[in-house]
Amino acid sequence: MIVSCPHCHAKNRLADERLSEAPRCGVCHQPLLSGAPLALDGDNFNALLAHAPRPVVVDFWAPWCGPCRSFAPAFAATAAGPLGERLIFAKLDTEAQPAIAQAHAIRSIPTLAVFQRGRELERVSGALPAGEFARWLERLAN
Ligand SMILES: [Zn+2]
Repeated sequence: MIVSCPHCHAKNRLADERLSEAPRCGVCHQPLLSGAPLALDGDNFNALLAHAPRPVVVDFWAPWCGPCRSFAPAFAATAAGPLGERLIFAKLDTEAQPAIAQAHAIRSIPTLAVFQRGRELERVSGALPAGEFARWLERLAN
């Protein structure tokens, strides 16, 4: 799969089996799967969710959605903290990828969903206060 580095946005080609080896960006050498949210698209969404070595929390959002934009800094800050080592933080732009949003029955945004080995564990619709978001993830990150 091809993933854009969340730090420098360079495109990196990753074999599915390398996901569990803490892959680093070929350009900036920062970790691809921790420290900042990964932007997913139609080409890598299913492969990443299926092969991720840790649970993946996806922020289903859209650029026109005010509450999504307000929540984005809390999502990024949580990804940069200790929970960023225990989960993979990812974002899906539902406006750019309507088929994925539809496949996951996303009816309101932001919707936050945690997946493990491709299976959805839990979701919440609506932005959470940062503290509540972290507590929710703590419970699901084990
Ligand atoms: Zn990079």
